[in-house]
Amino acid sequence: MVNEACDIVIVGGGLNGAALACALRHGPHSVVLLEPKPPGAPEENWDPRVYAYSPGNVNWIKSLGGWGETLRAQAVYRMRIHGDAGGGLDFDSLDAGLPELAWIAENGRLQSALWNTFADSPNPRIVTTPAEAITWGSGGRHTLRLADGSTLTTRLLVAADGANSWVRQQAGIGFLLEDYHHVGVVANFATEKPHRGAAWQWFRADGVLAYLPLPGKRISMVWSTPPEHAAELRALAPDELARRVAEAGRHALGELACITPAAGFPLKRRLADEWVRPGLVLLGDTAHTVHPLAGQGVNLGFRDSRLLAEVLKSGGDPGEIGRLTAYAARRREDVVSMQFVTGGLRKLFGHETLCAPSSGKAPEPPDKAPTLRYPEGDKSFLGRPDERLESLIRNMRNLGMNFTDHFPPLTQALMHHAVL
Ligand SMILES: Cc1cc2nc3c(=O)[nH]c(=O)nc-3n(C[C@H](O)[C@H](O)[C@H](O)COP(=O)(O)OP(=O)(O)OC[C@H]3O[C@@H](n4cnc5c(N)ncnc54)[C@H](O)[C@@H]3O)c2cc1C
Repeated sequence: MVNEACDIVIVGGGLNGAALACALRHGPHSVVLLEPKPPGAPEENWDPRVYAYSPGNVNWIKSLGGWGETLRAQAVYRMRIHGDAGGGLDFDSLDAGLPELAWIAENGRLQSALWNTFADSPNPRIVTTPAEAITWGSGGRHTLRLADGSTLTTRLLVAADGANSWVRQQAGIGFLLEDYHHVGVVANFATEKPHRGAAWQWFRADGVLAYLPLPGKRISMVWSTPPEHAAELRALAPDELARRVAEAGRHALGELACITPAAGFPLKRRLADEWVRPGLVLLGDTAHTVHPLAGQGVNLGFRDSRLLAEVLKSGGDPGEIGRLTAYAARRREDVVSMQFVTGGLRKLFGHETLCAPSSGKAPEPPDKAPTLRYPEGDKSFLGRPDERLESLIRNMRNLGMNFTDHFPPLTQALMHHAVL
């Protein structure tokens, strides 16, 4: 049985844990990265998990040497966002004064590239044996007991083990949970027409559909949609799915052909009650998750890792609560404002949320839905209340989009957050 002590243990080597390990590898602390499922060599098949990364984060990862040649990355130069009544918003990298608005790359290849940066380095040390228990030390020195009976004592435990974090559970830290009642259906397609570095997003009655450009004539699709519709899409034969997605995207890129089967991810907002304790930090999806409509989940996590690495580089006790508290306070505004913006957009565009009955009973069929009674006469020609509310909201959001599109300072303010 081995009893080891180190400065920092990162539990979870997904994008966020791996990026932090990469940023800390030349720093003053000894680091252990505990990940039972290290990434394999990059595969030829396209990964269905394709994300948008902000220019600020890409520059940071490049500076760490993690934006490797094995990545199949595509720059986004233009974003076209459509409302459901013809309204639209156009973002251009020239408007933003940037070479590109974002980069698109596969999760698996980026994770492998980050792991490659420390493949031959003694720091971090990689441990693949799962942890079974944690003893919380009163002075902030915590001990992990691994499945082989060995122990790891650390001055800072970083929980980067994802949205359903085991470490968060062991610490007894609760979290706010909001079910968006949407599933993110993802799949990749070959396209008939070139995308020319444009990303599209359609706010539709059945959710939000996004096309993210991939290298060559390919795109990655994310369709955030109610569970029943998601199940229907996932059950379709590849040709039929491609036809439905091309039609929903108004044939912006002509006909589509599936290159990966559809997968689905239930979408939930989470916000952990505590992000730091003496000798403990919650990072990335372990601390917070957001709706993917703004493509910000991992971007927020990378900004956590960026700041934490910055805070720790001066050495000293990494688990000291004063600087961990200062770190969490600085990260909170970014995360909470992004949750507010994506939640607000989702509510504005989520018909079923605004029009569903609050009793939890199934909605009445359209022809049985109640009409409002007006004392001065019958105004049922105005439509049912839910129809009028829906139409009002539709007009407001399309008006909002057009207003934003014709008001460059507001567009630039929106873009500013997305490029950090
Ligand atoms: C449909 C969809 C689209 C998205 N699009 C975008 C986008 O365009 N842009 C964006 O920024 N974000 C996007 N996101 C969000 C993004 O996927 C997540 O924020 C990101 O993957 C979280 O990374 P993570 O490293 O925190 O967690 P994870 O990727 O979940 O990694 C956790 C790691 O911890 C390991 N682990 C788990 N349990 C243990 C344990 N007990 N011990 C040790 N290790 C453990 C796992 O093996 C894994 O490697 C999207 C999400 C969805 C669902």
